[in-house]
Amino acid sequence: MPPPCSVTIVGAGLAGSEAAWQIASLGIPVRLLEMRPVRATAVHKTADCAELVCSNSFRGDKLDNAVGLLKEEMRRLGSLILKTAEACRVPAGAALAVDRDRFSQAVTAALQAHPLITLVRDEVTTIPESHDRAPVILATGPLTSDALAADLLRLVGGEHLYFYDAISPIVLADSIDRSKAFRASRWDRSLRGAGAGTGTPGPSGNAAAPSGPACGADDGQGDYLNCPMTRDQYERFYDALTHAESATVHDFDREKFFEGCLPIEVMAHRGVDTLRFGPMKPVGLVDPATGREPYAAVQLRQDNLAADHFSLVGFQTQLKWGEQARVLRMIPGLEQAEFVRYGMVHRNTYVNGPRVLADTWQVRVRPSLFLAGQMSGVEGYVESAASGLLAGLHAAALAVGDPVLSPPRTTAIGALAFYVSHADPTRYDPTNITFGIMPPLDRPRGGKAQRKLALSARALADLEQWLAGRRRTTAPSASHP
Ligand SMILES: Cc1cc2nc3c(=O)[nH]c(=O)nc-3n(C[C@H](O)[C@H](O)[C@H](O)COP(=O)(O)OP(=O)(O)OC[C@H]3O[C@@H](n4cnc5c(N)ncnc54)[C@H](O)[C@@H]3O)c2cc1C
Repeated sequence: MPPPCSVTIVGAGLAGSEAAWQIASLGIPVRLLEMRPVRATAVHKTADCAELVCSNSFRGDKLDNAVGLLKEEMRRLGSLILKTAEACRVPAGAALAVDRDRFSQAVTAALQAHPLITLVRDEVTTIPESHDRAPVILATGPLTSDALAADLLRLVGGEHLYFYDAISPIVLADSIDRSKAFRASRWDRSLRGAGAGTGTPGPSGNAAAPSGPACGADDGQGDYLNCPMTRDQYERFYDALTHAESATVHDFDREKFFEGCLPIEVMAHRGVDTLRFGPMKPVGLVDPATGREPYAAVQLRQDNLAADHFSLVGFQTQLKWGEQARVLRMIPGLEQAEFVRYGMVHRNTYVNGPRVLADTWQVRVRPSLFLAGQMSGVEGYVESAASGLLAGLHAAALAVGDPVLSPPRTTAIGALAFYVSHADPTRYDPTNITFGIMPPLDRPRGGKAQRKLALSARALADLEQWLAGRRRTTAPSASHP
């Protein structure tokens, strides 16, 4: 008889709660260690598992939208988070939004009622020991406590663990006015084949390496869209920016920003020309409309493989979202911009996934240790829960000696795992799920909406196939730990 197996999970947030449910549902005992209420974080307000720290929305719920697809896949994989969200749903149009208190209380109750889950309230300060029969999942989120973060840093190396995220806004490509924005790299240094990558390039604050090009502008390695400004336009933009309202600043946000990742409004307050010598410098750009270098320029960089998203380079900001829309639409070419994501600067503990993780969420240097949730390098409630779901299934498989196999990259959940483990590690940014990180269709047909639905149909068919294969390999052993 092999020794009994079990899984330890640290952190009962969205990822940890989902992982615990998946593992226990396969008949394997789980110890779930959560530090609240013994120790608080800067943003959680309750002692409940899976507390939603900000918005109460799990975003879109239709199959023409990547997060809708991810949710459908999670439903098919028996997600506790989704089942509970649906039970606590509040009206929110095409989105899935919940009554946040009922939601986290119901998740907590489900975990506590499960006979194979033991919920322990204590802060974990070092990574628990693990081995194949007793894997560990770390799911301590963006606000991982300091002692545990320090131990993780020892394991993965300082250069692969980040503590802040400085996010630039992203706009829909279709909403950029190409009669004003022109395509060029500084000094015309466009390098063939470079630029798109598999990731979502953008700025990341790295505690271990505060300087460097992470938040910088055009590195000359690809084509950029440039929005040129006259002096008059710049001065009006500057005035609006320095008078715009900032988002509420949490205590952790008051800590010093890394010089390389300063929010644009902070830079602007240093002087009227600071932005013109920083992210808005026009040097090396010639506006084809005038044949001259503009007074200032905002650069936009392709942000996903599908080329339908562009990020504003070096434009990390803490302005309120409404203010961002108002001020950034003053940029020539962005008057009608549709924002896919607004800029943010916040505390965020996460690893450089491609350096640290395999596509099964296992730490490469210690495969009996899994990372899940925001700390594994994904972004968002649904993505965090999805990574917890897979880390849970994989940890359960490892514990009972079954093969640990990721779903195909053509599924949203598999694409997320692939992105986290294979994106460009030199400019890694946590990602939301988008169709842009999934492989394109072999024979794309129809308009954009039809192509998205076709990607979803392919994903769901491939998920079913993966599930059928998994049932064949795991069923007997998983139910008898
Ligand atoms: C301020 C802020 C606002 C955000 N707003 C949104 C939003 O509106 N929408 C969205 O989709 N995403 C948002 N996110 C991003 C992300 O989706 C959430 O942070 C999400 O909760 C991440 O899930 P998780 O399971 O990884 O972490 P969490 O849900 O934070 O769970 C981690 C758990 O680990 C516990 N823990 C930490 N350290 C230890 C330790 N040493 N020992 C034991 N337990 C520990 C924590 O108490 C917590 O319960 C936000 C993030 C932040 C920081």
